[in-house]
Amino acid sequence: MKRPRILIDVDGPMADFVAPALEAIFQVTGRRFKASDHVNGWDLFSGLGLSDDETKEVFHTMQVPGLCLGIPTVDGAREGIEELRKVADVWAVTSPFGGEHWMHERDAWLVKNLGFHKDDVLHVRAAAKHGVYGNVLIEDKVDTLRAWQAAWPTEMPVLFELSYNKNEGWSGAAVDNWPSLVARVTSYLIGDHPKVRESRCTHIDVTGMCPWCSGT
Ligand SMILES: [Mg+2]
Repeated sequence: MKRPRILIDVDGPMADFVAPALEAIFQVTGRRFKASDHVNGWDLFSGLGLSDDETKEVFHTMQVPGLCLGIPTVDGAREGIEELRKVADVWAVTSPFGGEHWMHERDAWLVKNLGFHKDDVLHVRAAAKHGVYGNVLIEDKVDTLRAWQAAWPTEMPVLFELSYNKNEGWSGAAVDNWPSLVARVTSYLIGDHPKVRESRCTHIDVTGMCPWCSGT
């Protein structure tokens, strides 16, 4: 039988993108923000009151060699990813920020910090993530979860809850730390497996095979 497939977003669930963004904002504007105090909306830059020119300058500041490679790992992600790999294939699905260095540094970051193989890293812009099939999608962007849920209604989208996405009206599965994420996803894939398999065998994935029973 084919293993289930977990798709996981990188910035938010695994990489603390907010930390270098706040540092770049400080460099450009001289204004110092703390994630816990100020980051409460999806669009970090406009949410913190940056003008269009300041935002452009912050982006420019962040598109330098080494920035993506130096982003801190979210607490518990390394151990959690290892746990998820015991029950499923795990693919990183990440939207490139931009600049000449981002994509290859993102690959290297995932290999070095979280043990990914480059073949399991998909660079897909947020607006197209709903085109990627998996049994679970873990994401911090509610719009992306909704589009993916509409495309794959029998699968499970999970919100990785952070200060900036808490109030966006998501009513599906949500977790705010890695131990809870591992418990929720593994119980879905393993604990409920017979029931889930029964309900899934009527569909096939992009390979033409049902990932749960290997039938077509
Ligand atoms: Mg994200």
